[in-house]
Amino acid sequence: MAGLKRTMCSRCVKKVCSPRIKSGETPNLENAPDFCPMKLLPEVLEDVKQEYQKTDIKEFARQASIQEFECYEHVDGGLRTKNPRILELIQFAGKNNYKRLGLAFCGGLAYEAGLLTDILENKGFEVV
Ligand code: SF4
Repeated sequence: MAGLKRTMCSRCVKKVCSPRIKSGETPNLENAPDFCPMKLLPEVLEDVKQEYQKTDIKEFARQASIQEFECYEHVDGGLRTKNPRILELIQFAGKNNYKRLGLAFCGGLAYEAGLLTDILENKGFEVV
């Protein structure tokens, strides 16, 4: 398609965006591949920076960081998760005071979606 800017992080071997670019820092784009979204779509990055300044978005990100911190532990073999993802989801929803959760799933996972609905409803959530 003419004019379409095609980004491809899935093909990137340089990953200058990771790990851990500090807040306010900009990755060195000279080493980024030509299909890097930071090169192709700088206006989107600017929009994202503005979005992160919104109070509710900041709080969501803060709670997500807390949740992630709580769900990993250091052991002799390295870092590992200590909570199942469903428990993590329930804890995160609780931190954000969410009462209603939406499920998106394909037809092949309808049975599992039903099981998850039971779990979430038993935890007091409205599931849509
Ligand atoms: S954002 Fe750029 S540097 Fe990071 S993975 Fe994607 S293409 Fe690579």
